[in-house]
Amino acid sequence: MTKGLIYTPGGKAREYSPLAINIYKGCDHGCEYCYVTPMMTRFNDKYVHENVAERENYINALQKEATKKQKCEQVLLSFTTDPYNKLDDELELTRKTLDILQRNKIPTAILTKGGYRALRDMDIIEKFGKNIKVGASLTFYDEMKSAKIEPHAALPMERLDMLRQFHNNGIKTWASLEPVIDPAETMELISATAGFIDEYRVGKINHMEKNYPEINWHLFLKNVVKVLRISRRKFYVKEDLRKFANAFELKPEETNMDLYNLSWND
Ligand code: SF4
Repeated sequence: MTKGLIYTPGGKAREYSPLAINIYKGCDHGCEYCYVTPMMTRFNDKYVHENVAERENYINALQKEATKKQKCEQVLLSFTTDPYNKLDDELELTRKTLDILQRNKIPTAILTKGGYRALRDMDIIEKFGKNIKVGASLTFYDEMKSAKIEPHAALPMERLDMLRQFHNNGIKTWASLEPVIDPAETMELISATAGFIDEYRVGKINHMEKNYPEINWHLFLKNVVKVLRISRRKFYVKEDLRKFANAFELKPEETNMDLYNLSWND
């Protein structure tokens, strides 16, 4: 277990990456299904997730830590915050983080709902070459549904266009298909991203499930896997969704959470 700014995520988050950094405290995207608020208020009842703030002495501490972790396992940015939240427009700590990680040869996976904000770091992301992948959480294809449930995140078309632009510039791309609130929307997203997403991670909804219509997870799993297989895309099915596989067989590469993680190559 790694402690410090670069840490080993626990539980379901570990299925995304062996290591991670939370660049900021809090996130202002306001997703209705956000899992972070209940998690944080267990330890601090005054925690307000929308109040994004800097972490104390962050850059100095990261610089020191990164030099000791050169060529470590893949680091994900970020789980309990979005690297491209509104405060990052001002502080650009994500850019500074990327610079430190790149200079210390640390393979990096970005995960954001910040849309075009990520494009401002294209120059530094390109310096990583194949040692970085840029991803977005894709929940809805329908703009109205997204605007209602993820009110301050970039709209779906912006997220898709951001990923397309990174792909066109030779950067690896990925998508987190989680949470799944409406399976038809997820299927639409898979179809809309053909040709510019290199890897998918598919889950279900695990938090606030009771607030949304009931879903036949077995049927969703079968449909999603069928479409991804037919279109020959790389994907990983998260453990919570796999519980609904029953007699449906998944291939070993579809259940290996570390298969598509990056390791540094000069
Ligand atoms: S982007 Fe992630 S961390 Fe931010 S509010 Fe949405 S679910 Fe929470």
